[in-house]
Amino acid sequence: MHDWSEYELETIAVRAGQHRTNEGEQSEPIFPTSSFTFASAAEAAARFSGAEPGNIYSRFTNPTVRTFEERLAALEGGERCVATSSGMAAILSTCMGLLKAGDHVVSSRSIFGTTTILFNNFFAKFEVETDFVGLSDYEAWEAAIRPETKLLFLETPSNPMTEIADIRRLADLAHRHDALLVVDNCFCTPALQRPLDLGADLIIHSATKYLDGQGRAIGGAVVGGGEAIEAVYSFLRSAGPTMSPFNGWIFLKGLETLSLRMERHCDNALKLAQWLEAQPNVETVFYPGLASHPQHELAKRQQSGFGGLLSFVVKGGKEAAWRVIDGTQFISITANLGDTKSTITHPATTTHGRLSDEQKLEAGIVDGLVRVSAGLENIDDIIADLKRGLG
Ligand SMILES: *Cc1c(COP(=O)(O)O)cnc(C)c1O
Repeated sequence: MHDWSEYELETIAVRAGQHRTNEGEQSEPIFPTSSFTFASAAEAAARFSGAEPGNIYSRFTNPTVRTFEERLAALEGGERCVATSSGMAAILSTCMGLLKAGDHVVSSRSIFGTTTILFNNFFAKFEVETDFVGLSDYEAWEAAIRPETKLLFLETPSNPMTEIADIRRLADLAHRHDALLVVDNCFCTPALQRPLDLGADLIIHSATKYLDGQGRAIGGAVVGGGEAIEAVYSFLRSAGPTMSPFNGWIFLKGLETLSLRMERHCDNALKLAQWLEAQPNVETVFYPGLASHPQHELAKRQQSGFGGLLSFVVKGGKEAAWRVIDGTQFISITANLGDTKSTITHPATTTHGRLSDEQKLEAGIVDGLVRVSAGLENIDDIIADLKRGLG
C-alpha cells in the first residue's frame, strides 16, 4: 500500500487505494464476483494460509471494496479499514470483535437511536452491559468506568443538539483504564475531524451519510490499527456483514468529492444558523459554528469545519415546529441527513419519539425543536423555504 501520509486530504480522496488493472482504466473498476481463481494449487494454499496476500472470496476480499477501504483509511490517517454493509454493521462488528460476556461499555447518551437499541437489547443478551453518560460530562465518564470496562463509545458533534466532546481528553481517560475509545465520525467525516490523530482507537462510519453524500446506498466502515482492527476484520470474515462491490464503488466515488461537498455543507449550515439566530420566532439555535455555542472554542480546536447539521427551537412548541416543516416546498421531510438535498426533521415525534418525557427533557428534545441537515442547494433558496412557515 502506497504511503499517503505525505499528501493532503483532497489528493488522498481522489487517488488513494487505486490499483489499475492491465486495461489501463482511468476510473476504478467494479468487481462483481463472489470468488477468485488461483494459478495453481500452491497459490490457493498460500492465499488461504495468509502466506501470500490476495483475493479469495468477496465476503472478505474484493478489489473494489479494498480500494474504498484503503482510501478511507488514508483519509482518516488509520492503518487499516474494514468496510461493512451498513453503519450499524460497523458498530456490530466492532463490538462482536472486541467484547465478550462480562465486559462493560460506557457510551455517550447522545448517540444514534439504533445504536442504543443494539447495546441495550442485544449486547445485553450476551452479558455485555452498557452505561450511558452525558457526552461532555467528563466526571460521569470517569465514574462509570469499572475494571471490566473495555470500550468508551461516542459521537461528536451529537445529533440533534450538536454538543461536542473533547476526544483527546476521553482517549486519555480510556487509555488510563486500559479501555479503547471508539468514535462514530459520521457527522464530521475525515474532511472536518480526524479522531485517530486525537488519540481515538477506532472510528465508525455510516457511509450512508456524508461519505456517499448523495443518498444512494447503505454502507459502513471501521478504521483503526493493530489487534483491534484485526479483531473487527476477523468477525467480518466469519460473520459476513460485508459491503458489496457495487456499494463500495459508489462510496469510492463519493469520497472523491467529499472535501468539496463538506465545505459547502458547512458554509450553508453556518449562514442558515446565523440567519435563524436573528429571527424573532426562533428561541435558540444549536450550531458549533456560532459564537453562542457553549463549546464553540473546542469545536474550533478539534474540527476544521463545523458540519452541516444544526437544530433550532421555534417559539410555540410542536405546532409551530410542524408549521415550519410543512411550510417547506423543496426541503425533504425525512429523518436522513448528510445528503446533497437539505432535510428537515421534528426529533420529538420521529427520531426521538420513543424516549419518555423525562428522557426527552434530559436530552434537550423539546417540542419546538427542528433539525436541519443543510444540503447543497443555494443558501438563499434554503432560507426562503424555511422562512415560509416561520412567520
Ligand atoms: C445513520 C447512522 C448510523 C447507522 O448507519 P446505517 O448506515 O444507517 O446503518 C450510525 N451512526 C450514526 C451517527 C448515524 O447517523
